[in-house]
Amino acid sequence: MPLRRLTAARSLVIVAGLQFLALSALAAAPPAAPRAAPRLRNVIFLIPDGMGTAAVTLLREYEGRPTHLDSLLVGVCRTYSADSKVTDSAAAVTALACGIKTNNRMIGLDPAGRPVANLLEAAQSRGLATGLVVTSRITHATPAGFAAHVPERNQEEQIAAQMLEHRIDVLLGGGREYFLPRSAGGKRLDDRNLVSAARAQGYQYVATAAELRGPLRRPLLGLFDDDHMTYEADRDPAAEPSLAEMTGKTLDLLATDPDGFFVMIEGSRIDHAEHDDDAGATRYEMQAFDAAVGAAVSFARRDGQTLVVATADHETGGLSLGRLRSGNSLYAYYPEVLRGVRASGWKMVQAIRTGASGDSVLRVWAGLDSLGDADRTLLAEGIAGDDVSLDHNLNEIVSRRALIGWTTYGHTGIDVGLYAFGPGAELFRGVHDNTDVAGLIAGLMGFDLAGLTAKLRAR
Ligand SMILES: [Zn+2]
Repeated sequence: MPLRRLTAARSLVIVAGLQFLALSALAAAPPAAPRAAPRLRNVIFLIPDGMGTAAVTLLREYEGRPTHLDSLLVGVCRTYSADSKVTDSAAAVTALACGIKTNNRMIGLDPAGRPVANLLEAAQSRGLATGLVVTSRITHATPAGFAAHVPERNQEEQIAAQMLEHRIDVLLGGGREYFLPRSAGGKRLDDRNLVSAARAQGYQYVATAAELRGPLRRPLLGLFDDDHMTYEADRDPAAEPSLAEMTGKTLDLLATDPDGFFVMIEGSRIDHAEHDDDAGATRYEMQAFDAAVGAAVSFARRDGQTLVVATADHETGGLSLGRLRSGNSLYAYYPEVLRGVRASGWKMVQAIRTGASGDSVLRVWAGLDSLGDADRTLLAEGIAGDDVSLDHNLNEIVSRRALIGWTTYGHTGIDVGLYAFGPGAELFRGVHDNTDVAGLIAGLMGFDLAGLTAKLRAR
């Protein structure tokens, strides 16, 4: 990484608003010595799981104004894994966190099964404070990529244990079930209680939004749900905090570290909404993620020494804005249909399975008053089928009305947007492989991922 470019980038930030002076400084920059450059102290790495650029367009058109992400767009990332054109979240996070391609389902290991160091470990080795903030189980693939090395992403008991061994300063999300033994209502088969273990390590433990709104200290473990946190569409703000609220609390706690911090913040459930082909829930998840981006950028603007990077691990659902209707290509789609959607498809399934009629559920929770024949067929088939088919069919009724299309209940292989703000942001411009992101962050921060990987393997 050319030091001159880095110095120039920092100059631009320092004299923000005085662009003429900054450009003069760029032209006249003396040969840069590393110690002369102002420090880039902090990194906020935001991962919107499953977010393609269509999801950003949908949010922008729904809101009728630019998103926070829009002003940060600098490039795109390719997402393929070592063994497939379509990555899963495990291989993708290994690329983003460790800078290497690996096989689907593997976390923090190369395809031969050897451990590879990640950005959070590199930050810790330099004395930075660290954090992981998610809305899925915190033992899910994306956060695991910054705190674990396992051959199979489903090894969530091991992931929880490795996460605690890392002594990360702030851990917030769902997934209490993998921290508790079965005797305490959890899923751990080894009978360990990792919440007790965390307390013994000195962690403050919080489990409700109210507790997160009280006095906090580092290290902090917050587990707000047994499983994933509730979809944003269905979330009770009195019970569970929003992603933006968790982001704000985390930045407050980490910003006091004199050495700086590294934090990964994931909009985990954009992916889940899109696995359900649920346009309404996707809109809510996108709003929640974009609010967290706004919180991160306003921190970085105030601070001036913080790099914000955001990129998805892959796209999910094959979301498209515009679709065939009865064999006809219509040049339209209607994001305003989603204004009537006030619950996830799964909440509507629960309402129907506990006695509400399909018509009333679609009227009250999806804002659909008049159902056509094709809607009624989908509804009847869904009700006669299992919960997954009912969820899919309810979501399909809404998507058809909005002319929003989906190609899969899984992931796709398209490029995803790359967003950056702060010192060094210009280095992220262009078409990148997802492995470049870790390399660029490591280069800017002076992290030695290769050296740390060698140490991991020598253990
Ligand atoms: Zn993912």
